[in-house]
Amino acid sequence: MLAKDPPLSADPVGDFLIGLAGGSLVSAIESALESVASSVESVVSSATPDAAESVIGPKEGSAGGPGAGKRFSDSTKDAARDDTCVFCGQTTNREPGPSQSQIDHAIPKSRGGNNMIDNAQNTCRTCNLRKGALTTLEFLEKMASQPF
Ligand SMILES: [Zn+2]
Repeated sequence: MLAKDPPLSADPVGDFLIGLAGGSLVSAIESALESVASSVESVVSSATPDAAESVIGPKEGSAGGPGAGKRFSDSTKDAARDDTCVFCGQTTNREPGPSQSQIDHAIPKSRGGNNMIDNAQNTCRTCNLRKGALTTLEFLEKMASQPF
């Protein structure tokens, strides 16, 4: 009479690996999990300031006063300059082209928008051209009804 087969291990491969590597495999897995957890934490914590920065725009704008209808000064442009378009979120750069960073008048100069920082926002050239003489609020409505 044959002896009954010994019960199969629930996880023979795992048993084998643990047997092979001893406790070091378990600690390797644990440290790998810890490093995943800590990298997730670092992603979350590094994302927080970025998210706060991206709240910079779009701006409602500012009109009137002595700076009404005027171009931005270089220092105002520098202060408003960012690497993300406030409208489409695309990365902007300083190279001529559709992603070129442009400092937009939230309320256009032609409509009394002034040259204060409250009226200055970083956009890509594509959005700035599309916005034209619209205010930020008008352009947001246009984007909602006529997406790219
Ligand atoms: Zn854009």
